Amino acid sequence: MLPKEVLERAASEMLDANGAGQSVMEMSHRSADFLPIIEKTERLLREILAIPDNYRVLFLQGGAMLQFAMVPINLAGAAGKLSGGGRKTAAYVDTGVWASKAIDEAKKYVNVRVAASSKDKNYSYIPAAPAPETDDAYYYICYNNTIFGTTWKNIPETGKTPLVSDISSCIASEALDISRFGLLFAGAQKNLGPAGCAVVIIRDDLVGAAPEWTPSMLRYDIYVKEKSLFNTPPCYCIYIMGLVLEWLRDLGGLTVMAERNRSKAALLYDCLDASRLFHSPVEKSCRSLMNVTFVFNEVDGEKRAALEKRFLSEAAAEGLVNLAGHRLVGGLRASIYNAMPREGVEALVSFIERFEKNTLRA
Ligand SMILES: *Cc1c(COP(=O)(O)O)cnc(C)c1O
Repeated sequence: MLPKEVLERAASEMLDANGAGQSVMEMSHRSADFLPIIEKTERLLREILAIPDNYRVLFLQGGAMLQFAMVPINLAGAAGKLSGGGRKTAAYVDTGVWASKAIDEAKKYVNVRVAASSKDKNYSYIPAAPAPETDDAYYYICYNNTIFGTTWKNIPETGKTPLVSDISSCIASEALDISRFGLLFAGAQKNLGPAGCAVVIIRDDLVGAAPEWTPSMLRYDIYVKEKSLFNTPPCYCIYIMGLVLEWLRDLGGLTVMAERNRSKAALLYDCLDASRLFHSPVEKSCRSLMNVTFVFNEVDGEKRAALEKRFLSEAAAEGLVNLAGHRLVGGLRASIYNAMPREGVEALVSFIERFEKNTLRA
């Protein structure tokens, strides 16, 4: 979801943004009309996320998934496989689909060391993170596991080894100590705006280590030098992100947002914990505030599939949509990102309670 206020503001500025006599979609990305827009988005992001001065903020295309390649190439490529080296390793913690995909991609460029995994229990928890080893060029975690509904509650201690994290599905949902990380990235489309842009937050000393063979479009140092304007950036997405960040600032920033998110999630988890029909498959200490997964209690495959189908269609009839679990894991999932109002969660809880009553009576 995007905040309604943001969509209304964008609609009102569709034909004439900031008195420019044109839509943001029509502006040249290097014009005096657009530059203040990208600068404002960066300023707000720095302010709201409390990004320290020794970090650069980049707006890139290719979504979060392009970072699965850019990270190993830029941070470890020079001593990696394609440089005839293979001297370096990169440590990854495997916490589910998005971490696994990052691992598979990184393997093309660097020797990946899976430092820990929660695969043994179908990714229903966050494993303890062992210390890095000396050859690790960086240490990688996926902070919030969108598909399995788990999240890190403590940032692993990695000493001098840069910690890298995919925060696509939790960026700006609560405060995060950026200074503990070397690099963070997020696709915009979960919490910041429409699809088409990825935000990268990179510490100065990690910029500039890309090997010579790196395609220009994949080099952090070029985007840093060109202030994300090496080629045409996703202008409209950057503009909407600015509006979303303004909305976030005006409602009180991350302190207020985190409080709202915690209370929304608690409402739903309390409902599931009290349910006789559903349960949350995730260990309590690792539950995500953004993605709440739930499954039917002990029922056999065929009966469960029929129940899920009925749940989804009856929910849709009440305007409750996008509740199917990810196609790779099944079950049910409510994504309650920043812009989801409390009333949305209340409506879902009320629906779950009624569905349960009707089903158990039948
Ligand atoms: C959605 C998501 C992605 C994929 O993002 P794209 O922008 O589609 O590449 C990657 N990681 C996480 C944690 C996600 O939630």
